[in-house]
Amino acid sequence: MKISVIFAAACLLIGVLAYSCSAQTQDCEGFWISEIDDATFARIKGKSYKDDCPIPLEDLRYLHVLYKDLKGVTHGGELICNVYIASDVLDIFRALFLADYPIERVRLVDEYNADDETSMRDNNSSCFNFRFISHTTKISKHGLGLAVDINTLYNPYVKTVDGKLIIEPATAEEYTDRSKSFPYKIEKGDLCYRLFTEKGFEWGGEWKTVKDYQHFEVSDEVAAKLYPNYR
Ligand SMILES: [Zn+2]
Repeated sequence: MKISVIFAAACLLIGVLAYSCSAQTQDCEGFWISEIDDATFARIKGKSYKDDCPIPLEDLRYLHVLYKDLKGVTHGGELICNVYIASDVLDIFRALFLADYPIERVRLVDEYNADDETSMRDNNSSCFNFRFISHTTKISKHGLGLAVDINTLYNPYVKTVDGKLIIEPATAEEYTDRSKSFPYKIEKGDLCYRLFTEKGFEWGGEWKTVKDYQHFEVSDEVAAKLYPNYR
């Protein structure tokens, strides 16, 4: 009698767990995608999802991922990105996790008050952060949730204007010399590069006039097709 009660309880528990996993998309082993619910919206409203953001919430997805730091310790991470790339980004993070590829932090940029510079100085990896490009109706790829930045401090954005080097984050100067070797460095041909480019992303480290070593984005053609009014 007792054993059958325990058995029934175990079956019930398994059933509940299976249901709660299938209620979310993908799998339940720390990697899942969900729509932007009220609680998530409350976290991003007025921050990465600014009041003038014309991208409907239905176009965005919340991603929960696992990642490992340099010591191999597993952490849970959160991202928001466009529904168009959501399952690709989930697959990429899962592959990076399974390969022990080191990532230091994956937090919503809202935890940095949607301030990119602060997030990058903290070596945070992220995706969606809405903004129009200054004085235009063009929205940056991050503003569309169509670009992902990985290990941002060690893979800075670098541009030369009138002979002067502009580095973002400003604290990343020692990581602008890409002939040096250091942790978290993204290079052409490495696992991170391959996973993103195999899914059709372009790498900012291959751009000609500026270098954005942390940055992977969908092509201009795809973005224009998805959002013709904002490209
Ligand atoms: Zn970027």
